[in-house]
Amino acid sequence: MFTVLVVDDNELDRTYLRSILEGDGYQVLEAESGREAIQLVERTSQRPIHLVLMDVVMPMLDGLDTVKRMRRAHPKHWFPIIYLSTKEDETLICQALEAGGDDFLTKPVPTNLLLAKMRAFARVADLQQELETMNLELFQSSITDPLTQVHNRLGFLNQFEVQWRICAREEMPMSVIMIDVDHFKSYNDTYGHPEGDRCLHAIAGALQTALKRPADLLGRFGGEEFIAMLPTTDMGGAVRIGEDMREAVRALNIASATNPKNEVVTVSVGVSTCEMVRLSQSENLIRTADDALYAAKGSGRNRVCYVSCNPHSLKHQEQLATPLKKI
Ligand code: GH3
Ligand code: MG
Ligand code: MG
Repeated sequence: MFTVLVVDDNELDRTYLRSILEGDGYQVLEAESGREAIQLVERTSQRPIHLVLMDVVMPMLDGLDTVKRMRRAHPKHWFPIIYLSTKEDETLICQALEAGGDDFLTKPVPTNLLLAKMRAFARVADLQQELETMNLELFQSSITDPLTQVHNRLGFLNQFEVQWRICAREEMPMSVIMIDVDHFKSYNDTYGHPEGDRCLHAIAGALQTALKRPADLLGRFGGEEFIAMLPTTDMGGAVRIGEDMREAVRALNIASATNPKNEVVTVSVGVSTCEMVRLSQSENLIRTADDALYAAKGSGRNRVCYVSCNPHSLKHQEQLATPLKKI
């Protein structure tokens, strides 16, 4: 339903406009002051207002200032605002439009003119809405991997940077898990690429089941490599999740005659934790998780290895020099 907000300090004017608009099928909300109008626009963000009819002369906050505040509060969401005023001053009309309004009609407005203007703006508002929806869909597809429906590399890294900053500010640890499918090239060679795709899709689903917290995020980092971030999670917790992931994939029981020891598809997992996020750089954590994954591959696959991501490069070297622990 197209919702119109009528802002006017005069109750008779509001009632008159309501009767015209409801007669033409609009849903009407009323505000008797600029302040109330601003609050209504805020409160109805779930069920938005599609168009505003704004009186100009009102006590306290006039129409122009109300519009300025509304536009400032919603810089990315446009909705048409039409002023209705008894004043016809050219300078005022210019100021009113500069303040962020879209049209200016002089009271008393002939009903047919008002309704025609409303329909014209409704068409523009519809197009605007369509554009916003399409933009959102485009944005979603730009950060989603089409095969597995998890975040792609770009989407993952965007979120990773956001969570990294939160952990730095709150002095919380951050963990990253890298997951790579074992002997996947020969799986593809044996069962064919389409079967390989189905396998990757199933693996993404299994990995996802191991992530429990709202801020945990899984991404597809490359061909058959996945990555997960676990904000505010320490090493012990991250290693447990890494082990759950490894087991969830094995439990899919996808037959793989080409996986030498296991006969089913397995993954190798590398876990790394940064305990002092504010002292480190985000790339370090991904790099050390990759080091741990490399160690998991080197020490037999279908296993979890972990290493701490130490913020100081000297200590980091020392850390890597010690053998990675195996589970
Ligand atoms: P390792 O255990 O050392 O990881 O061996 P691997 O064979 O898994 O590693 P390698 O990097 O040699 O091969 C990765 C393979 O993953 C090669 C490629 O055919 C396959 N792959 C990558 N992306 C896709 C994809 O989108 N679909 C399918 N079906 N296969 C993919
Ligand atoms: Mg692999
Ligand atoms: Mg790989």
